[in-house]
Amino acid sequence: MKYCKKCLQPDTRPGIKFNEDKICYACLYEEEKKKIDWETRKKELIEITEWAKEKSEENCAPYDCVIGVSGGKDSTLQAIYAKEKLGLKVLLVNCEPDEITEVGKHNIENLIQKGFDIIKMRPNPQIMKKITKDAFYRYGNPVKPSEYPLWASAYIIALRFDIPLIIQGENAALTLGVVNTGLGTDGNAVNVNEGNTLAGGNANDWVSDDISLRELYMYQFPDKEEIKKKNIKAIYLQYYLKEWSTIYNQDFAIVRGLLGRSTESLYDLGRYRRFSSVDSDMQILNQMIKYYKFGFGSTTDQACCDIREGRLSREDAIWLVEEYDGKCGDKYISEFCKYINITVEEFWNVTEKFINKKIFNKDIRTGKWLPKFKVGEDFDE
Ligand SMILES: [Zn+2]
Repeated sequence: MKYCKKCLQPDTRPGIKFNEDKICYACLYEEEKKKIDWETRKKELIEITEWAKEKSEENCAPYDCVIGVSGGKDSTLQAIYAKEKLGLKVLLVNCEPDEITEVGKHNIENLIQKGFDIIKMRPNPQIMKKITKDAFYRYGNPVKPSEYPLWASAYIIALRFDIPLIIQGENAALTLGVVNTGLGTDGNAVNVNEGNTLAGGNANDWVSDDISLRELYMYQFPDKEEIKKKNIKAIYLQYYLKEWSTIYNQDFAIVRGLLGRSTESLYDLGRYRRFSSVDSDMQILNQMIKYYKFGFGSTTDQACCDIREGRLSREDAIWLVEEYDGKCGDKYISEFCKYINITVEEFWNVTEKFINKKIFNKDIRTGKWLPKFKVGEDFDE
């Protein structure tokens, strides 16, 4: 396990790339950003906007663009920016997670109340529950199935209603440095389903003896050829906006009514920022499993971002990561066990199979899995 020399990005992240000086591509992008001609990018964005307005008129489409939203910080910015700043006629699409939190419900309603039409899509919860359990046992990743309809929904709706433009938020290839995926490193978001979680997967991934493909319509990312034929464009707003960052987006959304996880303990959340993954507790648990698989979780992701944007020294980031990363409140584990109907003991039996034994050791006395590595220091597995 090797770390980026600038931030705390480990080389265990799937799809990550480092240069010969052992700097990760997310840090390199941060440097590159300083050289970007943002005026030109903005002009490009305006051109796309104008094109979408003309095209929707030509198509007799009811909207200029579709935005998939959760009501979180990024989607709040995307929606309001598109409507107020770009003057687009926006249709929101929301794919509600199973077991949505109360704060999550508030945030999506808060966004709609800013003046939007919305289509809410919700895949059959009985099927979602089954494949969530399946994904936990097969991949040690219970949130994987929910990502399929989440990403597919905006593309499905754009195709059905002939809406010319889809506006996505950030391109993970740039912000996380996962350039070894099929995401591409520009503003084009047509390949958004090629990121780490979906990896180009399709609804077939969840077909089983008791679930047929016909029951998984919402999980199917539309055919790229069909998107191309209809001349639908998909863009990452982040690529065009100089001001886009975790903190900017968060502040933008908070003053417009976004709520975070204000009362929970940071040790239960496994992170030190309260405005990420607000709508689903399963995300917290998933970050803990990610930590045991790859040696890093949500705190590392947040700390890396803070180092790159100059808010945190590498040294202080190490302290935060050692303190909070990989933590998850017992209540989230019991909630999840109840949801997929297994015992907590079974949960740990399954999770243990996915723990990377090259970088974690089981403490015989306590039964806890402890890291062999030291955060920020290269470790020979
Ligand atoms: Zn880095």
